[in-house]
Amino acid sequence: MHSDSARDVLLWLLAAWPRRGDSVDVAFNGLAQKLDPAFEKSDLANTPSGSFDRVSRELRVGDMAKFVVSEAADPESLSLAVLRRDSSGRWKLVSFKFQCVSCFGSGVLNGEPCDTCGASGWGLQDGQLI
Ligand SMILES: [Zn+2]
Repeated sequence: MHSDSARDVLLWLLAAWPRRGDSVDVAFNGLAQKLDPAFEKSDLANTPSGSFDRVSRELRVGDMAKFVVSEAADPESLSLAVLRRDSSGRWKLVSFKFQCVSCFGSGVLNGEPCDTCGASGWGLQDGQLI
């Protein structure tokens, strides 16, 4: 279905998203058709305590669509879903990362680039302050 919206694709993915303890490899194979080539398998380890049942409005930035995802049971824990439209018009998930617990999404910690999330504000990314 080329006409699926970014939200449709995200909701489909969230309905099939792995639960805590599920195999990342099995989940990756099941969801692969709607994952962008740049998607990092480790993002599938960002699992909900219950289910990801809250999705924000869509922010469209060029060919990217961004949503904030959370759980009604745990509204303080936020994740950022980024989807991209490929050359055939299909939306695919590029990344799904939790808000950084060190800098709370700002990318800045004590006036320096946050070295937990790589200063992106989301997920974990190796980096070294020099
Ligand atoms: Zn951070």
